Amino acid sequence: MKPYLPEENVAKRLLQRTKSTPPVDIDAIASNLATIEYADLPNEADALLLYDHGDDGKPLIILDQNQLSSRLRFTLAHELGHIAIPWHVGSLVYHEELSIENIAAFLEYEEIEREANRFAAELLAPRDWVAGLFDEHQGDVKKILLSLTDSGMSIEASHYCMIRAAPIGNCLIKCRKLDDTVVTSTQTGRTFLSLPRDREVFDAKKYFNKLDFSVHISKQSSFVFYWIKMLSVSFSKSAPEECSKELIMEIMNDEGLAEDQIDKYSKSINGIVGSINGRMKGEDTQHLYDGMRRRFLADEKLKFLVKHPRFMDFIAARVHELRS
Ligand SMILES: [Zn+2]
Repeated sequence: MKPYLPEENVAKRLLQRTKSTPPVDIDAIASNLATIEYADLPNEADALLLYDHGDDGKPLIILDQNQLSSRLRFTLAHELGHIAIPWHVGSLVYHEELSIENIAAFLEYEEIEREANRFAAELLAPRDWVAGLFDEHQGDVKKILLSLTDSGMSIEASHYCMIRAAPIGNCLIKCRKLDDTVVTSTQTGRTFLSLPRDREVFDAKKYFNKLDFSVHISKQSSFVFYWIKMLSVSFSKSAPEECSKELIMEIMNDEGLAEDQIDKYSKSINGIVGSINGRMKGEDTQHLYDGMRRRFLADEKLKFLVKHPRFMDFIAARVHELRS
């Protein structure tokens, strides 16, 4: 798991100090830090934060009373972030009119918003708790999502908290329901997938009917969330009879490649193996085996290799040679 960011550590300390565990009593935590009021807020605002306007000189948070309670929880946690994160206090300006002149201020504002979101995620769904759910439910997205929504979180916030804590080999692609264009895509590393870009139309079908992926689709009123999980194939302790060189020659001969092509492909295959092995130094053999396989599966130029019935033997032999 990635190291905790400073704003996540602020949330962790607040949980420890208030002895809170999920499902967190956000109203109790909030009442110590701020005065909370509900009102009809204009212009689709989720909340307002006013310093020194609450009881006893506390900050005042006004929440939009028309929101769903699950969304309010995240909004409230987000606003608490602005109060609890020491470097946020006083730096918050609401930029109503953005122009090219204040782009720097806008970028800073966006970063502050992201920090408050990460604080809120850690407060409501601590990363190690969500990682525990991934273990408990063996990566079953549907069950983990249910645990999070049961703890009072919205579907959207749940997905956000889940991808922060998911083990390697997971991708989350959030699309607009209207036209399937990508809003954000995130992966947890070593999937060797090239993720779709923002605003591109996402073609989920590409990932169906493949033995190496499992796809889970979750819909909400405005968005569709696609989870693509790379499947693991267990690494056998006994190596194939032939060495990897013999296997790769067998595959290339079956393909009927000319000598110069064999030479060219051998170099490129060796290069790939070398770079993956270098990147995954110190990781266990199972990870190296999965990573190696995925890297080759993602390579458009080596389709003949991947399709060959002895491809998996080749990868297994190569990993045995590297790790024995
Ligand atoms: Zn904010």
